[in-house]
Amino acid sequence: ATPTSIMVGTGRGAELGILFRKGDALQRLKDAKVVMLDKTGTLTLGKPVLTDMHVLHGFDRDDVLALLAAAEAKSEHPVAQAIVKAAKDENLSIPAVDDFSSVTGYGIAATVNGRRVHVGADRFMRQLGLEPAVFETLANALAEEAKTPVYAAIDGVLAAIVAVSDPIKPTTPGAIKALHSLGLKVAMITGDNRHTANAVAKSLGIDEVVAEVLPQGKLDAVRRLKTQFGASAYIGDGINDAPALAEADVGLAIGTGTDVAIEAADVVLMSGNLQGVPNAIALSKATLGNIH
Ligand code: ADP
Ligand code: MG
Repeated sequence: ATPTSIMVGTGRGAELGILFRKGDALQRLKDAKVVMLDKTGTLTLGKPVLTDMHVLHGFDRDDVLALLAAAEAKSEHPVAQAIVKAAKDENLSIPAVDDFSSVTGYGIAATVNGRRVHVGADRFMRQLGLEPAVFETLANALAEEAKTPVYAAIDGVLAAIVAVSDPIKPTTPGAIKALHSLGLKVAMITGDNRHTANAVAKSLGIDEVVAEVLPQGKLDAVRRLKTQFGASAYIGDGINDAPALAEADVGLAIGTGTDVAIEAADVVLMSGNLQGVPNAIALSKATLGNIH
């Protein structure tokens, strides 16, 4: 490609809301064989809402929800925002939190009014020595509906399960179809529950699913899928996507995502609309295709 064609392609990208941050991303995108996407905030809006809540015997629902909201008020995770919003919408009074810590990919721990509160994935409960299996049937049914089950323990006792639902962006199905039309394999790589991930993937016709992975697991999945399918593009928005964005042949960050993701990416999609991904690949093919 000539410097002029690259300049024209880069300028056309800017018009389409696609910013090429690093030199050769425009040249390399045309070779992509597999596109890997994060789920939360990338395929979905990243604005989950609390849809279900069940407490075990001996716990008061409103009391538990207020404790969870207090604990989650310190977390930036979308799940946390859904829980806080639900408590506020119900006008529950949310107590102050004394101490707070988060375990990336697992959940959070906090002390609220002298009570120890843990909120997170089933693997987080197991890590605490608790057995989330009492909720298994319910959790699987919620996940079938593409909802994420989240567990809560109070003072070291399993207390509740809540579910959050994160709607798919209206533009996502069209973008996945466009990627398939370009002959690409489409994979989802997510930290979320595997049943939830499978339900979302099925509804979108996604070819491969890697679920329940930590940031390092996302990176490992990129390596594996690259070996299996060839040149790769990874799209994500979160801190947990940064290693995967750096590992992929081309990393594309959602412009509304975290700074850490944007820093790790070669390309920034200015809007959350994933149509930017097939657009960027088509632009790369058009820019490089005509020049010999
Ligand atoms: P993702 O963004 O793909 O869900 P994360 O690594 O951020 O991946 O989180 C993985 C899982 O850990 C979440 O799906 C959720 O079950 C749990 N989790 C993380 N942070 C929180 C939190 N603040 N509150 C409740 N659960 C959490
Ligand atoms: Mg995300």
